[in-house]
Amino acid sequence: MDRRWTFGDQLGPHFLDGDDQPVLMIESRRVFARRRFHRQKAHLVLSAMRHRAAELGDQVRYLRAETYREALAQVSEPLTVCRPTSYAADRFVRRLPQVEVLPARGFVTSQAEFAEWAGRRGAKRLLMEDFYREARVRLGVLMEGNQPAGGRWNFDQDNREAPPRRPTLGTPEPWWPREDEIDAEVRDDLDRWQRSGDVQFVGVDGPRRFAVTRQEALHALSDFVAHRLPAFGPHEDAMLAGDDWMAHSLLSATLNLGLLDPMEAVEQAEDAYRAGAAPLASVEGFVRQLIGWRDYMWHLYWHFGPDYRRSNQLAARQPVPEWFTELDADGTVGARCLSEVLRGVREHGWVHHIPRLMVLGNYALQRGWCPDEVTDWFHRSFVDGYDWVMVANVVGMSLHADGGRLATKPYAAGGAYIDKMSDFCGGCRYNPKVRVGPDACPFTAGYWWFLDRNADRLAGNQRIARALAGRHRLSDLPELILQEQDRGSEAP
Ligand code: FAD
Repeated sequence: MDRRWTFGDQLGPHFLDGDDQPVLMIESRRVFARRRFHRQKAHLVLSAMRHRAAELGDQVRYLRAETYREALAQVSEPLTVCRPTSYAADRFVRRLPQVEVLPARGFVTSQAEFAEWAGRRGAKRLLMEDFYREARVRLGVLMEGNQPAGGRWNFDQDNREAPPRRPTLGTPEPWWPREDEIDAEVRDDLDRWQRSGDVQFVGVDGPRRFAVTRQEALHALSDFVAHRLPAFGPHEDAMLAGDDWMAHSLLSATLNLGLLDPMEAVEQAEDAYRAGAAPLASVEGFVRQLIGWRDYMWHLYWHFGPDYRRSNQLAARQPVPEWFTELDADGTVGARCLSEVLRGVREHGWVHHIPRLMVLGNYALQRGWCPDEVTDWFHRSFVDGYDWVMVANVVGMSLHADGGRLATKPYAAGGAYIDKMSDFCGGCRYNPKVRVGPDACPFTAGYWWFLDRNADRLAGNQRIARALAGRHRLSDLPELILQEQDRGSEAP
């Protein structure tokens, strides 16, 4: 068996062909110096790699070097590698003569299955819902014969409840890992690198919140399924200032490190439903994220090609401002939703899907920030951020920079949406109902400014036609536009 080179996001046993396969791992310091990552992300990746190496013992050659190339110069034997998860890494390994590249692992639908499905769709839009249903049938997940369990494919309508009036959902705290001596060593190294000026981080150092070993990953999964999955569905789209985690699984970083295979999570969730321990709407919602959204985004990353990341159909060219890239470190942001969400990113390198999409992404969309820069920011600032998952989520889903290839309409929303789906607006200095003047909510005003600025570019989109027409009914639109042009990308 040839030695398997495993990248830092290929750490589970399913990336090897056998328990005794020799392994190569490379810790490249340049990776951390190239970009300004969240401190907790750098910690997580290094800790996970070093834990894996400690587990593998003599089976692994663990090389620490400035670059991959430098490390590979020390390796003369043939290597195999599972397809890496970014265009850059994929190109790199394919140019190396001693490396054989195998199909990707860690996803549910294979590349051939996706290609076959996309081919059958022809010129039709590649809808997530169709992709997901086919995967359910093919994998026999939540099926009763050839019908979906409970008679419905989709429980999204049940899973969009507004938040409860209390400050937390009341679900049990997530399971948290305990740090060990490897974490202490990583923390010392990062401190040293930072002091030497080679490497810089954003965000605060904090307790490690996500699994770095297979054992921790399995623990995190079973704890979520037992204690939090039942509540996952109903408030999936809600946000509460006092509850950073809600009933989300917090498994994205673990899955993206390759420590869990998504089907393991799907199977455990389905078992909970079959045992009557979790309602179907929650289980279906969770399964949809995993075999639907996660795989769909992965395949679209490759399907849309390397230039997709540079799409900019809405001609958004504003730079991402410093208060945002610095995660509001000095607390200048007055809009409570933005300040709360940026605090979450600063403190944990993680917030759940709706703050990413409807607060951070929505604001970037409204203000016309450059998609390439926003993608890079998400990639660096989130513990679960990797190229494959960021490009489609940011360029396509969040910023509509692809002209609607992925999402049928832009996820732009005013303060009313945020007010409905969160408790942020209550304590905010702005009023979501006000468009103009000192109390004008930057999201509400920003929404109309966005529509007006992009009216021509969005003209053919039926799903937004009513909103576009609606702006003409606003008598204060000219004033609003001047106000927002003036506010621009300043901290609101
Ligand atoms: P849960 O809500 O518990 O969902 C379960 C799992 O489903 C997640 O762990 C994740 O693996 C998967 N999933 C759900 N939605 C998506 C999606 N749209 N794309 C891919 N996987 C999905 N997810 C990442 O893994 N890494 C990212 O860097 C990332 N960046 C995002 C940026 C933006 C602008 C947006 C809108 C979404 C992004 N997502 C990303 C998707 C999603 O927000 C996170 O996967 C999720 O919030 C992680 O928290 P969780 O594990 O508690 O997820």
